[in-house]
Amino acid sequence: MQHYFGTIADSHAIIDGKQLHHLVDVRRTRIGEKIEVSDGTEAYLCQVESLNPLSIVVLSKVEQKRELDIDLTIAFGVLKGDHNDLIVLKGTELGVGKFIPFTSSRTVVIPESNDKRLLRLRKKAEEGANQCRRDIVPEVTDYMKLEDVLALPYDYRFFAYESMAGGEDLISVAKDVEKRSRVLVLVGPEGGFSHEEARLALDYDFTFVGLGRRILRAETAALYCATILGAYSEVN
Ligand code: SAM
Repeated sequence: MQHYFGTIADSHAIIDGKQLHHLVDVRRTRIGEKIEVSDGTEAYLCQVESLNPLSIVVLSKVEQKRELDIDLTIAFGVLKGDHNDLIVLKGTELGVGKFIPFTSSRTVVIPESNDKRLLRLRKKAEEGANQCRRDIVPEVTDYMKLEDVLALPYDYRFFAYESMAGGEDLISVAKDVEKRSRVLVLVGPEGGFSHEEARLALDYDFTFVGLGRRILRAETAALYCATILGAYSEVN
């Protein structure tokens, strides 16, 4: 079933902008067709009553749970090319609630604020959310500096660091993360975090975690974190 984001008022759904274009021109939705509309909090089963003017009536609330039981933020070092897209698109499917792209000492291509790549990331979040019928479109924040991300308050704050001999693995700490908590995970860029950055994260009291026995590419690492934390939140 087609899924859209819109607003709900007086038992009707209102869809506009690109979502409307998609419904009318791309999918050529017909009168009588059932669609799902999410208002950013809940999803509703709706039916197209007429096309000109467009009228979509709400039939019922969709009770199926689609969001994780934790509020998960993935902060990732900005990567070259379109690797960032993969993190946002697939991370959205895995239930991530917010993405924070950050710059750090090993960022290869320093982005300009609000550049095309950031706009594309926000589109990817919307695309992914529609595709897997999320209740919300995850936020993709403006680019931040690593130091500012380290200062953000969360209930759990994990720092993925491959050079941490003898430390804990994410998989062993993820099972103790409490439901409904706010969780932040930091994953470095292609060249990883510097020693100074790791030291700063320690000062900020981050929990350092390993991600298994192999060194993962940055985008794989981000998606691994989303998978492990998301999976535990759903089964625990
Ligand atoms: N600096 C590393 C190197 O060149 O050997 C690679 C960095 S890795 C490509 C990018 C990021 O993924 C790291 O900063 C870290 O956050 C995360 N990462 C990848 N594999 C990891 C692992 N096994 N344990 C913890 N973090 C990992």
